[in-house]
Amino acid sequence: MQAVRYHGLHDVRYETVPTPIIQAPDHILIEPWWCGICGSDLGEYVHGPSAVPTTTCHPITKEKCPVVLGHEFAGYVIEVGSAVTKIKPGDKVCSSAIIRCEKCYFCKINEPNKCVQLGFLGLSGFGGGMSQRVVIPQVMAYKLPDHLDLRLGALMEPLAVSYHGVMNTGIGPGQTALVLGAGPIGLCVLYGLKIRGVSKIIVSEPSEQRRKLAEDLGALTIDPAKTKVSRQVKSWNNGIGADASFDCSGVPSTLDDGLTGIRPGGTFMILALIKKPTTVNFARVQYFEKSIKGGVCYTDEEFEEVINAVGTGVIDPSPLITSEIHGKDADALGFKELARANPEQIKILVTTRPLESNL
Ligand SMILES: [Zn+2]
Ligand SMILES: [Zn+2]
Repeated sequence: MQAVRYHGLHDVRYETVPTPIIQAPDHILIEPWWCGICGSDLGEYVHGPSAVPTTTCHPITKEKCPVVLGHEFAGYVIEVGSAVTKIKPGDKVCSSAIIRCEKCYFCKINEPNKCVQLGFLGLSGFGGGMSQRVVIPQVMAYKLPDHLDLRLGALMEPLAVSYHGVMNTGIGPGQTALVLGAGPIGLCVLYGLKIRGVSKIIVSEPSEQRRKLAEDLGALTIDPAKTKVSRQVKSWNNGIGADASFDCSGVPSTLDDGLTGIRPGGTFMILALIKKPTTVNFARVQYFEKSIKGGVCYTDEEFEEVINAVGTGVIDPSPLITSEIHGKDADALGFKELARANPEQIKILVTTRPLESNL
């Protein structure tokens, strides 16, 4: 079959690889229709390899570089193993990115995102969504509503990441959120806040195009190059900071805004990938009883809640999709395009099917 594989820094190839087959009773064979390029995929392309194993194989997948890319995908089930009960051929599905051992303490308490052998589909092995076929265990598969456009199915995973971050701050209806960065994760946080019933959302973003998109989605916006973020938040929020803030940019200056932009007792959630150690003024954390938390992936319940919210029309994340490309162009029109930080691009979807057949 054809697949987009990661070979190393700036090296992504569309090439022929062995077609995966069902090898265990809990396996599900899927034909992916659409697969998003994630910031973590881009990180491997621009700075990696870091998450992709290169010298020793991942302990669960027993694979290492090169790996088929893509964990943000949706497609049709082709075939299922004999022990699969919740999914059948013909179903629309999407996948969790979480490769888990199913045996450790964290897997047993239903927090597989903390698994001691945590891996990521499409980076640690198990194939990926940028291919003509992929096999995943039943525990990673989520059934999508029959009526759902599979493009939206490909957005469930990043939406679930963001929704998990939202839920872990404890923010709720009637409260105020500050989102730092209106790229893919920041805008997904905006949708996650809407699912949670938070209507007052302030977004800090230097790009005018991205601010416009956030405004179209109902947010108040700040240009942090021109305005002091914490002061503006207070002026819009009765003189106090936001109840929760979300770092979705990973830039050191926004980390300061995240901590100063929340009220005493507020929570600062880190969702961006932070490249380098940075300085934090912990006196603010102590004196104002602020919390700093991190977020990775999601629980199964949160993933199902996101699917339900999109499926029932509570949110419509289709404005996030800014480009649809074929796998053969994944390097030139996907990774290279995102690597030059074009602010107009939010989520690029890749398919290995003929583009015109994916209507
Ligand atoms: Zn992702
Ligand atoms: Zn585990």
